[in-house]
Amino acid sequence: MASKKIEGALKPAAKGRGGVRVSHHKNTCTLEVVRMPAPERVILPMQQHIGAPCIPTVKVGDEVKIGDVVGDTDAFVSAPIHATVSGKVVAVGPVKVADGSMIPAVTIESDGKMTDADFKVPKVNSREDFLKAVRASGLVGLGGAGFPTHVKLAFKEDAGVDTLIINAAECEPFITVDHRECIDNSWDVLSGIYTVKEILGFKNVFIAIEDNKCDAFEILQKIASNNADWDDSVKLVILKSRYPQGAEKVLIESVTGKRVPPGKLPSDVGVVVMNVASISFLGRYLKTGKPLVSRSLTVDGSAIKEPKNLRVPIGTEVSKIIEFCGGFSSEPYKIISGGPMMGIALCDIDVPILKSNNAILAFSKDQVRIKKERDCIRCGRCAEACPLNLMPSKIEIRAALGDAEGCEALHATTCMECGSCAYACPSGKPLVQHMRLAKAVILANAVNREESEK
Ligand code: SF4
Ligand code: SF4
Repeated sequence: MASKKIEGALKPAAKGRGGVRVSHHKNTCTLEVVRMPAPERVILPMQQHIGAPCIPTVKVGDEVKIGDVVGDTDAFVSAPIHATVSGKVVAVGPVKVADGSMIPAVTIESDGKMTDADFKVPKVNSREDFLKAVRASGLVGLGGAGFPTHVKLAFKEDAGVDTLIINAAECEPFITVDHRECIDNSWDVLSGIYTVKEILGFKNVFIAIEDNKCDAFEILQKIASNNADWDDSVKLVILKSRYPQGAEKVLIESVTGKRVPPGKLPSDVGVVVMNVASISFLGRYLKTGKPLVSRSLTVDGSAIKEPKNLRVPIGTEVSKIIEFCGGFSSEPYKIISGGPMMGIALCDIDVPILKSNNAILAFSKDQVRIKKERDCIRCGRCAEACPLNLMPSKIEIRAALGDAEGCEALHATTCMECGSCAYACPSGKPLVQHMRLAKAVILANAVNREESEK
């Protein structure tokens, strides 16, 4: 990988915004994405996004092709789910997902043919056509958030939203699929950007990349300099590698200097942030009409025999993906869906990959650092590390007391669970879990208040 820094384009991390220095471990950054063959079956949970769950639109015994809708709803904040292999529906019912919860799902047994449905290139003559097409594609934030993209882009024309940031920071250690997307599919990235810019009228577009991905920067810059459409309104920005540089609010401040106040959205400060894999998908979808049926993910860690970057049908089981990577090289002590900072530790590897999963990591015991929890020594490192200027040690105390008002006063609900505070804590406190508890205390209090007011 290129290690040369590109001078003149470097932006310092925003002042006073915490974060932590983590080792990058971008071991797979030179590995091209390999397409995994069709699995024997896929499991498609009806909740793969933030918002209302979908309702199955197929029944057991139905034959489906790739791209046929198998789940949908009338709710606006939701996204349809499509068949990701061709074959027969063999089950419709609850399945276990990565966080251990049971969710209704459609299971399809593959016929091994991977036959596509009859895709139609979306006709886009207006903003409304575009948003309808984006919804029909089933696209949700591919960086891990899972927020339906058509909802994110449905801001009012007169709302003053004039800036689009393409998030290619990829600050989580180990994960390299966004890096590969910039290198392998740079034309899709740029065509997606130009289409979205033109239809939604963005005046400024920034492609934000961390300074450990200079080869991706150079490729995009080279294409841009040979492209007549490229103008001053689209800029490449190199950011210092510091976790969580790619978190939406942190990125907005690093790139534009604007701060999103607690409880507000990026669009309230005139900005929309899209993950680079999402914009690249849109670039392809608007040319082919093929909805979101597969995604790229990094498979790495000391317990994986052959680490890879893979493109897999959504709904493929984690166990099958690990098998395709040669299985385990040693006894796995911890298996994570997602990155080591924000991912979920798996207790079962027969769970399916969802639209928002960008990595599967497996580590042997010697690579896993388990901190022994001790009393807080009031060192303040957690507050220093928090990019949102929260006070995790104080929130922990309020949450343990069940003090909802105290948690609210400390803005616990704005916590994005990035894990920087827990990483920095010398006492090994599981602060992210305490932040979740604080949010649960606030929610329970709001529900009780509503009940008593009835
Ligand atoms: S997990 Fe929450 S409290 Fe901790 S650093 Fe991240 S945003 Fe701040
Ligand atoms: S970093 Fe840990 S020990 Fe230090 S104040 Fe925060 S919770 Fe306490």
